[in-house]
Amino acid sequence: MTRKAVLLILAIAVVVLLLPAAAVSLGGRFTFPTQAVTTVPPVREGEDKQPLQIRLYRNDQKKIVPIDLEEYLLGVLLAEMPSSFEKEALKAQAVISRTYTLRRHRLYGGKGCEQAPGKADICSDSTHCQAWLDPESAAAGWGAEGEAFLERVKEAVAETAGEVASYRGEPIEAVYHSTCGGRTEASYALWDGGELPYLQSVSCPYCKHSPHYRKNIMIPYADLAKAFSQDLPLPVASGEAPPLKVAAETPGGRVAALSINGATVEGKELRRLLDLPSTALTWEIKDEGLLLHTRGRGHGVGLCQYGADGAAREGKNYRQIIAFYYPGCKVTGIGP
Ligand SMILES: [Zn+2]
Ligand SMILES: [Zn+2]
Repeated sequence: MTRKAVLLILAIAVVVLLLPAAAVSLGGRFTFPTQAVTTVPPVREGEDKQPLQIRLYRNDQKKIVPIDLEEYLLGVLLAEMPSSFEKEALKAQAVISRTYTLRRHRLYGGKGCEQAPGKADICSDSTHCQAWLDPESAAAGWGAEGEAFLERVKEAVAETAGEVASYRGEPIEAVYHSTCGGRTEASYALWDGGELPYLQSVSCPYCKHSPHYRKNIMIPYADLAKAFSQDLPLPVASGEAPPLKVAAETPGGRVAALSINGATVEGKELRRLLDLPSTALTWEIKDEGLLLHTRGRGHGVGLCQYGADGAAREGKNYRQIIAFYYPGCKVTGIGP
């Protein structure tokens, strides 16, 4: 037996002995778990590592399916970002979605998806984890243009394979949204314990081409009263213009709380009640109702997807895009 082979066997033995302990003690720290532990045969010299798998809960099929991470990411990109976006924006999304997934992966000390039944790492519910589309059914019926888009998305995933966004060596909480409308939001404005150095509010000049950049939404006063009286005991009389005031503003210039006739409703709740694209808004009192002027779509934290597309149009690459929306972060490989 050669010295090389002895060393390889020793290395495998160490990994087999230590990994179960490492997997439970990571606690959010980031260490690449070798796949040579229980289910996969040891990697021989000259062979590629086994692909990392995740347990995806498919909400459409109501079951958990094991799937290779990189294959899963193709379906995420198809569902979460228009495939017509610039290649560098698609690559930024691939890195961000990979990072988001690994933060939840149980093998990496993540909690998995807490909504799905069973021990799923992530679900395909867009309002909970990440949307996902089966690439085959997504592409079925696409013409030549669709095929070309699919090819670009595949390239975006392949060209960033194994890359994540990290802050001081650890993968970040890689949240993202459709359109910030000119300024992203700080995470602590929305989520408890959300103060993170890389999720601060940044000025975004890149998303003006988004269809969600500015919207005018007319809410009849009767609907306003109805929406509030369903869930909130607010004294809004039907047919009357209610006295409104921004009670608190977020660092990103969104409505943190709105005061209506002296009662206060949180921005998040306001958005849910009125089904608004965002909490970045101003209004005008009109005879027929409240005319809202909204900016952007989504919570506004982290990557602005239309902004990523706009930045790519101006020649920024995916690493620059990620460093812009997550200050202090950089793109690194998975693990050591
Ligand atoms: Zn989920
Ligand atoms: Zn933006």
